[in-house]
Amino acid sequence: MPDLTAAGPEGRAARTALALREATAAGGWSLLDHPMLALEVAGSPVYLEPDAVVVHPDGTWTVVEIKSFPMIDSSADAAKVGAAARQAAVYVLALERVAALTEGAEVGHRVLLVCPKDFSNLPTASVVDVRKQRAVTHRQLTRLTRVEDIAAALPEGTTFDPGRSPEELGTAVDAVPAAYAPECLAACELAFHCRAKARAQGAVEALGRSVRGELGSLTTVAGVLAAAAGKEGDPADPTVAALRRAAALRAEALEGGAPCR
Ligand code: SF4
Repeated sequence: MPDLTAAGPEGRAARTALALREATAAGGWSLLDHPMLALEVAGSPVYLEPDAVVVHPDGTWTVVEIKSFPMIDSSADAAKVGAAARQAAVYVLALERVAALTEGAEVGHRVLLVCPKDFSNLPTASVVDVRKQRAVTHRQLTRLTRVEDIAAALPEGTTFDPGRSPEELGTAVDAVPAAYAPECLAACELAFHCRAKARAQGAVEALGRSVRGELGSLTTVAGVLAAAAGKEGDPADPTVAALRRAAALRAEALEGGAPCR
């Protein structure tokens, strides 16, 4: 277990990279406890701290993720395992950057998930294949708009200095385009601000990503209602046709006095 202490995240990431290179060259087993990895996200470095990384004698590096949810009869909550796999996939991507500069190193796409066994405090482990999650995350990261490009499009003098007045900060935040979705409520401190803005604009994103996906080129609630009422939209568009059919069925149900929810 190499010593990974260093000053600051940058220093710890450099120390981790050195330890990984030395361990690979030594050709034995090594365990890196809470290493620090760097990954470029939208042009800015982000520092990540996996629970552990194992270096195998053949030069393979394996991410180890320790979670507190139980593994009961060798299986765990699929949603929680999925979230852990997505998290581990990001570590795999960060490790691949270091491996590319290390002779004989290869990052394993199977990670070790360690959980409590049944309801005890004994650990148990399972190997999880994260190839799919790694591919999805890689694609999403390459498609992210660079922070410099977003900043360049903002009005001159825009600042997010917390010392500014609420009005000034509100104007600054409004200057940055956002794509609100109900999932934001669980993850982002700006969720209430973005939700109010999305509702004021009648954006269909506020109804959820799946609804947004179904509505194709229709981006506002007013546009959807107009398309359903036959006032707007191309009848050849399958979304418009489906909306009109739904509106006709609804009208028919209401006329017939059938209960409508
Ligand atoms: S709530 Fe947060 S994540 Fe969601 S759109 Fe706004 S800024 Fe982006």
